[in-house]
Amino acid sequence: MVRRAIYPGSFDPPTLGHLDIIERAARQFDELIVGIGVNSDKPPFLDTQDRLSALRECTAGMAGVTVESFEGLLVEHARARGCQVIVRGLRAVSDFEYEFRVAMANRRLAPEIETLFLITRDEYSFLASSVVRDVARHGGNYQAFVPEAVGKLIAKKRL
Ligand code: ADP
Repeated sequence: MVRRAIYPGSFDPPTLGHLDIIERAARQFDELIVGIGVNSDKPPFLDTQDRLSALRECTAGMAGVTVESFEGLLVEHARARGCQVIVRGLRAVSDFEYEFRVAMANRRLAPEIETLFLITRDEYSFLASSVVRDVARHGGNYQAFVPEAVGKLIAKKRL
């Protein structure tokens, strides 16, 4: 059986913290799908195509990693793609409450799919997409927080 997992998120924008989780998760599975969840309620910071192409560029050298976007319920998408595991990252205690609720709900919806948490690396424990967005909007230097491909995309944006 192929061990296949999905790492879902907004990745708006992708950060070095996300990339670290992708690298480490990819080592645990035959195939890892990085799934960009498309939420049409709010306008994104980077549009879906940009996030897709940047994440594809960053993961091009990683065996078994593919990047795609999806709409709708995560567990339905995970099922349709034959994933046994959902990977999420955990930073501080503050992540836990939200992640716990989502994982519980997902288990009710799809008991056959396991949620697996990877703990952040300490140097990325403060890093969130919202931090990058705020720094970029206020003209600060966000380059150390994001992969190069993402930095280039943000630089091209009119903020
Ligand atoms: P979402 O909107 O689904 O929470 P995010 O793109 O913000 O999507 O995050 C996707 C996943 O990556 C979440 O599980 C989040 O906790 C995790 N994550 C984000 N930043 C980091 C980081 N610096 N270290 C570890 N995990 C992280």
